[in-house]
Amino acid sequence: MPIEELINELQSCGARLVDPRAGAESRRGGAGPSDHKAVTIDGMTVMVPVHTAPAFESPYLVEKPDADGRSRITRDGLSIGEVTFPRRPRFYDLTTADGTPYSKIAVLHGRDVLATTVLQTCVRYQSRTKTCRFCAIGQSLQAGRTIARKTPAQLAEVAEAAVRLDGIAHMVMTTGTPPGLDRGAAILAESAAAVKAAVDLPIQVQCEPPDDDAWFGRLRAAGADALGMHLEAVTEAVRARIMPGKAQVPVERYFASFEAAVPVFGRGQVSTYILAGLGDTADEILAVCARLVAIGVYPFVVPFVPISGTPLESHPTPTAAFMDSILRPLTGLLAGGALRAVDVKAGCARCGACSALSTYERGQAHAGGRG
Ligand code: SF4
Repeated sequence: MPIEELINELQSCGARLVDPRAGAESRRGGAGPSDHKAVTIDGMTVMVPVHTAPAFESPYLVEKPDADGRSRITRDGLSIGEVTFPRRPRFYDLTTADGTPYSKIAVLHGRDVLATTVLQTCVRYQSRTKTCRFCAIGQSLQAGRTIARKTPAQLAEVAEAAVRLDGIAHMVMTTGTPPGLDRGAAILAESAAAVKAAVDLPIQVQCEPPDDDAWFGRLRAAGADALGMHLEAVTEAVRARIMPGKAQVPVERYFASFEAAVPVFGRGQVSTYILAGLGDTADEILAVCARLVAIGVYPFVVPFVPISGTPLESHPTPTAAFMDSILRPLTGLLAGGALRAVDVKAGCARCGACSALSTYERGQAHAGGRG
């Protein structure tokens, strides 16, 4: 099976782990995708669901690692390849002077990404009628696995250690949306500035479109190298159903912000996260992606993975075939617009672990090289 199709399959079905302690700890709860474990297959590190309902019944089984850290992966008992796990980062063993474990301030994502949710509360998470139905931002806070507000000084301290001890290559700073009209841009700017003053690390900041486009220049000046503004779903009907609060900001408002942000950050340095499998059709997603690519925005399309404890915990993951029907043509769109994950300075598009998209890109580059 081609590697990109295997990744689609693993992200759709999840995997059972014989040894759940292998590799770095899996994420549970928090903002964005969760309930995954990072595994490396054929040189690509991808997030594979392991704590979701489908994963418990998955035909894929990852065996206990051998002495070299390699695990056989089987499907219905037949061996289909080998995986390794990124090791537990050394910075997880440290605590700040005030006694906060570094792992409550930022965590390892994928192979070499430091990820943090600067503000672990969200104006959209306060009421059942507004909350994004896929989001678990409050769960890790409630469980005591993180702290509500990471200060710029704490982020700088952890980032410096993560680069020095674990070879972290870039950083993702996301945030719950605070009540103000800047939508979190102000705290992201002060956080990026503090990290950049401590260590030379490419940073992607992620927020909703701020009220004032001047924030893009301020974020860039503060040291943000890339920006993510995440549509999640692309049609208004699906957006209103899945994320009633966030859908009050319409898709066209996102496009106006994208057009203002691209000249500031550069073509391909502004991206958006699109969750496939929430109700948008493949054609609807591809039509929006074509518009995004045309204005220089990288559309990072990932399969929706339900998180335990959220209103969508029983929602099915998209099939591998559905993902293939989006990611294969999307790879052509990206190539036509000269946008490549490897050119993104920081963030989800560069990491790529939550989707097979960068593996499709790699396959196309190899095929092009051969042709
Ligand atoms: S793609 Fe983004 S959310 Fe997924 S593991 Fe990488 S940095 Fe984290």
